[in-house]
Amino acid sequence: MDFRDTSDEASFRKEVREFLAKELPADLRQPDEAVLGVGVGEDPRDMEWLKILAKRGWVAPAWPKEYGGAGMSVMQQFVYNEEIARARAPRPNYLAIGLIGPTIIVHGNDAQKQEYLSGILSGEVYWCQGFSEPESGSDLASLQTRAVADGDDFVINGQKIWTTGAHRSDRMMLLARTDPDVPKHKGISCFTVDMRAPGISVRPLTNMADMHSFNEVFFDNVRVPKKDLMGELNRGWYVATTTLDFERSGIISAIGLEELLKEIAQATRPFWSNDGSAGLTTRGTTARYELADRFLETRIAIMFSYRIASMQSKGLIPNMEASIMKLYSSELAQRIARTGAHLAGLHGQLGSESPHAPLMGRIERMYRIQIGATLAGGTSEIQRTVVAQRGLGLPRE
Ligand SMILES: Cc1cc2nc3c(=O)[nH]c(=O)nc-3n(C[C@H](O)[C@H](O)[C@H](O)COP(=O)(O)OP(=O)(O)OC[C@H]3O[C@@H](n4cnc5c(N)ncnc54)[C@H](O)[C@@H]3O)c2cc1C
Repeated sequence: MDFRDTSDEASFRKEVREFLAKELPADLRQPDEAVLGVGVGEDPRDMEWLKILAKRGWVAPAWPKEYGGAGMSVMQQFVYNEEIARARAPRPNYLAIGLIGPTIIVHGNDAQKQEYLSGILSGEVYWCQGFSEPESGSDLASLQTRAVADGDDFVINGQKIWTTGAHRSDRMMLLARTDPDVPKHKGISCFTVDMRAPGISVRPLTNMADMHSFNEVFFDNVRVPKKDLMGELNRGWYVATTTLDFERSGIISAIGLEELLKEIAQATRPFWSNDGSAGLTTRGTTARYELADRFLETRIAIMFSYRIASMQSKGLIPNMEASIMKLYSSELAQRIARTGAHLAGLHGQLGSESPHAPLMGRIERMYRIQIGATLAGGTSEIQRTVVAQRGLGLPRE
């Protein structure tokens, strides 16, 4: 494989870099959210960046032009995403642009595409994903929220949990059981639900980094018009797997992780280096080994992302490859956060309120935020099972 850009890719990269240098305001650059994939798209100020992208036609790089996307080729998207990550640009309305919109393009009817896609592109309509339930996470197909047909509507009862952004969403992509008497995967349907409908209540959940990012959502006889069924009745599982494929194929950027690691190496240097004046201390030596390991690992993550892009550009669909990428990059993000905390020593525990905190408290915050990365979008155990069965051909137990 030739890792260099073709001349077309190189000139596109230059175009994206020049655009970012000129248009991305310094105060909109996000140090961590854009890299770590947690809390992405949740800063209301991201919308300023969305408007700038809209003028350039780059809000949705992967969407076809007929739906208002940029219609970029796979390799153009790859270059674009690398440069966005390097520049720490926000990813506004990420869930809707990255997961929900592409699912609507695949499974929605003409009226639904007409109704929803433009609101996603303009940032006026904010979406959340109502899949997980208290007893159904990894085994999502066991979900119990019920939707029962009644006249022109379905009536929804049940509960969702861990719903990112539900507290400020206009619509939810919801999975509910429409037939309880068939095998579990075959009785689920997908709906687009107006979050202001009577009977919906949203209760906040604060995560261990003290952020209110996700929520519990309760449905008490909520009426959803039949026109808001997405895809066919009882075939919602296939709509959901489309969304999950988009979710796994790379929210954490390997290039972003490399940039973050460089920053950590620089910021923690005063805590482990004696500047070489009297040779290296033991602490300095082990710190260098630890950083070298993490740098090698970020290069491996970058190679995995090249592999996925190269498959996609040949029209192949990455499946266990996307699971490897998700597994490796989310666990690596946690190792990088641990390396940061380790190398900063006691200072690594200081939050943003302390003037002595390295990177203005980001190390401590990153350490806590990263715990969720190996759970969101499918846990590491589930990704390992995909790799074992579909990649290595191991038998099911
Ligand atoms: C930051 C964050 C954001 C999220 N946002 C959303 C959202 O917007 N919408 C949404 O619907 N959900 C969201 N989720 C929920 C997420 O999809 C679930 O947490 C995830 O699927 C795991 O489900 P669970 O929490 O019920 O854990 P469980 O499925 O109960 O798993 C508990 C433990 O058991 C292990 N385990 C379970 N089954 C197996 C198995 N078969 N083999 C081996 N080990 C197993 C798991 O790996 C895990 O360690 C979010 C989660 C996080 C952390």
